[in-house]
Amino acid sequence: MVILNHFYTLYLIAVVFYISECDSMIQINPDLCKGCYICVEICPKSVYVISNVTNKKDIKLPCPKNEEDCIICHLCELECPDQAIYVEDRR
Ligand code: SF4
Ligand code: SF4
Repeated sequence: MVILNHFYTLYLIAVVFYISECDSMIQINPDLCKGCYICVEICPKSVYVISNVTNKKDIKLPCPKNEEDCIICHLCELECPDQAIYVEDRR
């Protein structure tokens, strides 16, 4: 039980780190992402990179690292098969 709590704490730290690193108008729900990387492939502006942060399923999460290049086309949001992406329209 103690070991499980330890891993859960580490998981929460990783998620908080991921959110703070990737705090942006593009948000990815770590629990929904299955790591298909359609978002990485489909983005016309190469906004996403695959981060080293993993979710509960040990999947490396995509991160909108080059968000300043985003043209808010919503393609990634529309094509994500798990509705894990939300692109806030800040125009
Ligand atoms: S398209 Fe959705 S499920 Fe696939 S890697 Fe991107 S966020 Fe994750
Ligand atoms: S909204 Fe369009 S430009 Fe922005 S990250 Fe998604 S696919 Fe790329």
